[in-house]
Amino acid sequence: MALIVDKEHLGCSEGSWLNSGHFATLPPLGPLRARRIVVVAPHPDDEVFGAGGVIQRALVQRIPLALVAVTDGEASHPESKAAVKFGLAEKRHRESIEALRRLGWNDPAITRIHLPDSDVRGHQEQLREKLATSLRPDDLCVAPWRFDGHPDHDVCGQTAYESCRATGAALLHYFVWTWHWADPNGSDIPWDLCRRFDVTRRERARKRWATGAFETQVRAIGPERADAGILPEALLRRFWRAFEIYVDETEAIL
Ligand SMILES: [Zn+2]
Repeated sequence: MALIVDKEHLGCSEGSWLNSGHFATLPPLGPLRARRIVVVAPHPDDEVFGAGGVIQRALVQRIPLALVAVTDGEASHPESKAAVKFGLAEKRHRESIEALRRLGWNDPAITRIHLPDSDVRGHQEQLREKLATSLRPDDLCVAPWRFDGHPDHDVCGQTAYESCRATGAALLHYFVWTWHWADPNGSDIPWDLCRRFDVTRRERARKRWATGAFETQVRAIGPERADAGILPEALLRRFWRAFEIYVDETEAIL
């Protein structure tokens, strides 16, 4: 399945998701309990899009946080000659730091693995080793769903799943691309494992503010005016909801 995102390919509308009736009936996630929360981000921005609410709540609860930045996201503008000149990888890393600061996470603990964007699968062992040596039984790992639909997301989710099984850490999966391709009325999403994490008005506002920090993803970069690589607002709205949805696979793991 190829993910195409542009003004002609906006995926499932946010209205369709909200009207699907699924969200209101989901059980709440419950309070966060962990020695530490380890967020796995395939690309700089996934941590905020997928888990910006949980990150903020962890900060309030003074639960230590760590971010594993799997790639630098250097392939987000494959057609753009400006991307390399622009220093896209470092720029995206700085955007992530700024976005996390907007969530209240100053001086975030980020472990960068620098795996090649779009080829995490070819370097999965490095990710596996990093997670296996880092995760502990009383940690909570927050990673993309293993069927999120982007190859890097799927591998990160699967590796997190296996690493949590091996170490005994708890696991929550977040969605990013699933909202784009899945059918609200179909069986793409494992609703029986989904939990709803309500965010406060303040958390929601800060999360929206934080998504604006990813300038290379929401505006044209360099001198090029093309739309390529830009995430439309219709897509970003999925991450501005009053709640986040997580797949809780902890029971299946432990
Ligand atoms: Zn991503």
